[in-house]
Amino acid sequence: VADGPIAKRIARVTPYFPFKGIPRFYDIGGFLKDPEAFALVIEVLANRYAAERIDSICGIDARGFVLGPPIALALKKPFFMLRKKGKMPNAATGAAYAKEYAGADALAIPRGAVKPGDRVLVIDDLVATGGTLCAAVDLVKAAGGLVVECACVVELKFLKARAAFDAKGFTDVPIWALMSED
Ligand code: 5GP
Repeated sequence: VADGPIAKRIARVTPYFPFKGIPRFYDIGGFLKDPEAFALVIEVLANRYAAERIDSICGIDARGFVLGPPIALALKKPFFMLRKKGKMPNAATGAAYAKEYAGADALAIPRGAVKPGDRVLVIDDLVATGGTLCAAVDLVKAAGGLVVECACVVELKFLKARAAFDAKGFTDVPIWALMSED
């Protein structure tokens, strides 16, 4: 991944960020100032779900808030935010989860955002260990929803998010990424 010319415009690899132990940090910030690459990412994602029955789209704090809304607008579906705990009133907070780095965190879902039986599309910029997406799936399921797919721009496959999903019993929840690194 991030080798072809368009891939480089979508995710720039920065070594040793946020600290020395992380050899490759994928920065999606770059394509936001590149309207052609940004539009392409949104178009690919929106097209992928255009024929699916989806009731709502959620974005994960923080880069999922950048990618999720244009996809929701393209598909004409409601968008809601899964924020880090303590940021949103009238929200249900999930269990703490571990991340690729930077310790533990917890996500919160607005009460009433998901109704029982809703089909929800989950969006984030990047999946590494899958801890963040698992926390999102947990919250959607706890509200009675079904996750159609977790979609990201980049998947770091060597960190085995698929195995983390399977271990949690989320064998029915697909993970999809525009680009991946094995
Ligand atoms: P995970 O929970 O899958 O281990 O980590 C994914 C979360 O951490 C995502 O919310 C993502 O934004 C952030 N993250 C982890 N590694 C990277 C990276 O290399 N680049 C970016 N942009 N985000 C990362």
